Amino acid sequence: MTIFYLPTKIIIGKNCIRENASLFTVLGTRALIVTGKRSAKANGAEQDVRRALEERSIPAVIFDHVESNPSTTVAREAAALACEQKVDLVIGIGGGSPLDAAKVAAVLATNRIDDETLFSNDFAQKPLPVVAVPTTAGTGSEVTQYAMMTNDKIQSKSFVISDDIMPRVAFLDAAYTENLPLPVTRNTALDALSHAVESYLSKRATEMSSFIALESIRRLGRHLPMLRLGANLDLNVREQLLTASLLAGIVIAQTGTTVLHAMGYSLTYFKKIDHGRANGLLMGDYLQYLLPEHRERVMTVLRTLGLNGIADLKALISDLVGDREEISEQEISAFSAIAMKARNIPFTLKSPSQADLEGMFRSSFLLPRP
Ligand code: NAP
Ligand code: FE
Repeated sequence: MTIFYLPTKIIIGKNCIRENASLFTVLGTRALIVTGKRSAKANGAEQDVRRALEERSIPAVIFDHVESNPSTTVAREAAALACEQKVDLVIGIGGGSPLDAAKVAAVLATNRIDDETLFSNDFAQKPLPVVAVPTTAGTGSEVTQYAMMTNDKIQSKSFVISDDIMPRVAFLDAAYTENLPLPVTRNTALDALSHAVESYLSKRATEMSSFIALESIRRLGRHLPMLRLGANLDLNVREQLLTASLLAGIVIAQTGTTVLHAMGYSLTYFKKIDHGRANGLLMGDYLQYLLPEHRERVMTVLRTLGLNGIADLKALISDLVGDREEISEQEISAFSAIAMKARNIPFTLKSPSQADLEGMFRSSFLLPRP
């Protein structure tokens, strides 16, 4: 049986927000805009949303201080503003962090619940509708039912998962990503790559999800090498990266992620390593782990990327990530124990043990690289 669910209306192209302002009218009468600290103002996305809302006489309030890897504290502040201002629509603009905070604020605006209830996805009232404007090309949050929150209680990330937080509309205008700094461009592209690769190598992969995942991988294979130097990142390349990220988001919405993301959360929580970079650092050894039993699928990933083997992928990623952070044996066992509890572990094509995770961490960080 195949189920493929994608309720989001996806609108792609230059000026797509201003040209589709009428869509906001259908969704709400008073909006909360959720952004990070600076970029949404600098890249023009916030202004385009504000103008579209003004044109439709929809008043808007702004919550503009979502930090990277947000916790529920910030989402609760945004939700409090939503309640105080009686908004009925939440618009997230930014990277995955503001988009996820917007989704959680939409839940908390209609449900007075604690974190535990939130993370068990046990909410009675429908969240407010969400609109998403991605300004990084990586998380795919604009089309997923996930919102990732830093959770100190488990020293990792917890997800809110609900079809009701899948954005009603996603506006993708690559112009907003044109000035994305090179390190963020690299890290977010590696996040998109890990979504597409993990989805393709998931126990839950279907023919449809795999077809789309491979298209995302193919696009990333063409454009990742350009990120080595950062030259020629023109609008066309930005569009390709943004659609590759969108496709990768569409497939993780179907299959979820796997052990690679689970391990990455520990690197982000304890070592403050960016989410996409964390996945990238481990990706070669994750594929190496799967290779013996799943050679054909792993080789399909590599060939679709335009590479001949794992060594080529490791070389490409090393160029993108530069010097690796140091982690100790002690950290490796602690990180692995935490990652083993993540809910995406069971979707890994080959069920991993804690020793397998330790092995992947060790070869990514401690062993000399070729
Ligand atoms: P991010 O944390 O949203 O943003 C990283 C940095 O990029 C911020 O400093 C941000 O600045 C800046 N930035 C964003 N857009 C920019 C632009 N157009 N130009 C210049 N700078 C820009 O990074 P992210 O990698 O996109 O998101 C990571 C989060 O998404 C993590 O919490 C991760 O767990 C989550 N995630 C969610 C899903 C999902 O399905 N929901 C999937 C994967 C990952 P400002 O703060 O000023 O905006
Ligand atoms: Fe991710």
